Amino acid sequence: MAAHTQIVGKTKADFIKLHASKIRIENIKIDDKEVDFERGTGEITINKVKPDQKIVIDVDYSAPIEPDMQGVYLSTYQNGEKIEKIVATQFESHYARECFPCVDEPAAKATFDLTISTPIPTDTILANMPIKNEKLEPDKKTVEFERTPKMSTYLLAFAVGNFIGCQITSQHGVQITAYAGVHQKISDLEYAAHFAADVLDFYDDCYKTPFPLPKMDLLALPDFEAGAMENWGLVTFREIAMIANEKSSFDQRQYVALVIAHELAHMWFGDLVTMKWWDDLWLNESFANMMEVYATDKIRPELSAWDYFYTTAIMSAFNRDCLPNVQPVRVEVKNVEDISNLFDGAIVYGKGSRLLMMLMRTMGEKNFFNGLADYFEKHKYSNTEADDLWDALSPYAKFDVKEYMTPWLTQPGYPVITDGEQERFLISGDTDDSKYPIRKLRDDLTGHYLINLSQTELDEKLNNLDELSREQKIRLLIDRRYLAKTNRAESVSLLPLIEAFADERDPIIWELISAIVADLKIFFPPKSDEKHRFMRYMRDIAYPHYCRLGIEAKAGESEDDKKLRPFIMGIMHYAADEEYIEAVDGKYNNVFVAKLDQDLRGIIASTLVRKHPELSIKYFGIYSTSPDSALKRDLMDALTAVRDHDIAIGYLKYLMDGTVRPQDRHIFYLRLLRNYMIRSEAYEWAYKNWDWLYKEEGDKTIPDYPRYMAYYINNKEDAKKFKKFFSLHEKEKILARDIKIAYAEIDARLALIDSDKDKIYEYIYKK
Ligand SMILES: [Zn+2]
Repeated sequence: MAAHTQIVGKTKADFIKLHASKIRIENIKIDDKEVDFERGTGEITINKVKPDQKIVIDVDYSAPIEPDMQGVYLSTYQNGEKIEKIVATQFESHYARECFPCVDEPAAKATFDLTISTPIPTDTILANMPIKNEKLEPDKKTVEFERTPKMSTYLLAFAVGNFIGCQITSQHGVQITAYAGVHQKISDLEYAAHFAADVLDFYDDCYKTPFPLPKMDLLALPDFEAGAMENWGLVTFREIAMIANEKSSFDQRQYVALVIAHELAHMWFGDLVTMKWWDDLWLNESFANMMEVYATDKIRPELSAWDYFYTTAIMSAFNRDCLPNVQPVRVEVKNVEDISNLFDGAIVYGKGSRLLMMLMRTMGEKNFFNGLADYFEKHKYSNTEADDLWDALSPYAKFDVKEYMTPWLTQPGYPVITDGEQERFLISGDTDDSKYPIRKLRDDLTGHYLINLSQTELDEKLNNLDELSREQKIRLLIDRRYLAKTNRAESVSLLPLIEAFADERDPIIWELISAIVADLKIFFPPKSDEKHRFMRYMRDIAYPHYCRLGIEAKAGESEDDKKLRPFIMGIMHYAADEEYIEAVDGKYNNVFVAKLDQDLRGIIASTLVRKHPELSIKYFGIYSTSPDSALKRDLMDALTAVRDHDIAIGYLKYLMDGTVRPQDRHIFYLRLLRNYMIRSEAYEWAYKNWDWLYKEEGDKTIPDYPRYMAYYINNKEDAKKFKKFFSLHEKEKILARDIKIAYAEIDARLALIDSDKDKIYEYIYKK
């Protein structure tokens, strides 16, 4: 890509430093005179400039366009016989410097005038702002965009390609367009466009600060590293995070709504007001993660956004935050290498949003949002740190907000409360002397702590479930689940807990029961008699629900029943219940998989593959060619769970040859690890191909590997191999933390299996 950048500004010192990475500079001029410059790693320096002068810097250069999903990158997809190409950008956190020389730090805000040319005149060109001028020549199209407001470099974006779009105007008059490649359908973009319009208007009112741009584009890209990116006025997404219609599964509609609400929350938290430096990334991400739930619940209550929050944000935070060496929400960041380690989803997103929800409830919603409105008014178009937020909220709180929140944000971990006393909860069963401010102990879901009830208190609650609120029930299941991961509660106590909740028809209860069942699987070696006993035990618990719900949606049934069915079928599937398998096989074997009810498609496809392993080969054919990302995800779940060693092993090679898209590789690999038939080989594959994997995945994704791999280790032999391999990488900055955490997690799990398995076996044999 040949490019030219002009920077207009005032010098402060006698030298100028600009970030520039991977770009080849032809020449640099200051006020039209060519100057010398020095190249360092990721930067250029121009010496001998006069301080305090208004100057114009011009840089001619070229920048590479690679399929690496960062900086300016190339995304391709098959459209019938043709291969379509898209050029897109991903600048967060520090990749704008791969596109143009600049001061690539969030506090260095500037306005931007962008002009882009393409040799394909039929292409659409998008950027943050609306088009100002467009020039068409026979073999060239040039688009000049309106000037942006003052903003950070990491939020700049553009995209060039052959797109379809669905355009609407929000009630507040903002033009919203949802775009995708031409392999998608316009009708699959309407859901995103309408939801985006509603949520943008909602935030306008909620923050009492109008959305400052004249338009809002959403663009689904076939290759995308994260889930989505909040570029101001041009949000980019993975296809699965944006493509949906009213017939999509409940989960898909909920997910797309939440991702859009998250990214559009960033138009204020992040884009209008930006953290000064990456230490305060939580000011962006924790807020966006809470607001996605808050807004979606207000706009589309039928999507049960808070339920998602309870089972995802709260549980992922509890999961990760009980491990030693975990990072706090607010992390010190010294240089750009530290940034890759920042985006720990369970912490800066999950735990951070959970802490903000705690603050909102403690202050009261109205007070909280009044404070936020002041915050935006005072800091718009500039940068902030934590204290600016506390200052804005304080006038509306009856307590010291800073004193309350700082220990929660700067210390890792959370407490367990026993008899009114708190101790830090650690997976090892140990504790340390960290203390966390708790204003009032509540047994709903407000606080980030576990409550360790006495046996009498627990029995009292379990015997009177009807008297508990929904949140109290959810907390009880979550608390008991985590306590049982340590010596604070025996694992066997989870079984009477499941039995006590067995009559409940609320889908979230069964989602939590399914999570507990997944935890308990570590106690049962593959194909063992104990495993069969446990499968039978769970089958008996789920069976009455199965009889009532069956395996297909019924006309006029409640939304709860509709949502409950896949969880019950999931347990019947796990239990390999013959009656269930025959029913699914009889009803669905001849139905084309894409035509199945999308709420049940994943579990039906998995059950069919369990019965007919060869079907997974057919599914893989569809998986590798379909543009339908929700279908692909369901197929991936099914085909990776195949109980045929040779077929499963074949998938490992598709991770390397591009058949599985690089953006999906780590997800596909995780699914393969779930399959005990090839788990050992899947571990070996990663060890053997580690250097290749590291190079392909890059700094942001590679720490996921030790994290995921540790998650499925439940025997000494695999643990030993894991430690032997990763001992060679413990010193690598990108991996060090995740490796340490993985060791602790594995050790705790092996100890738990040793100490708790006998009592579990005894219990299920007595049943
Ligand atoms: Zn975000």
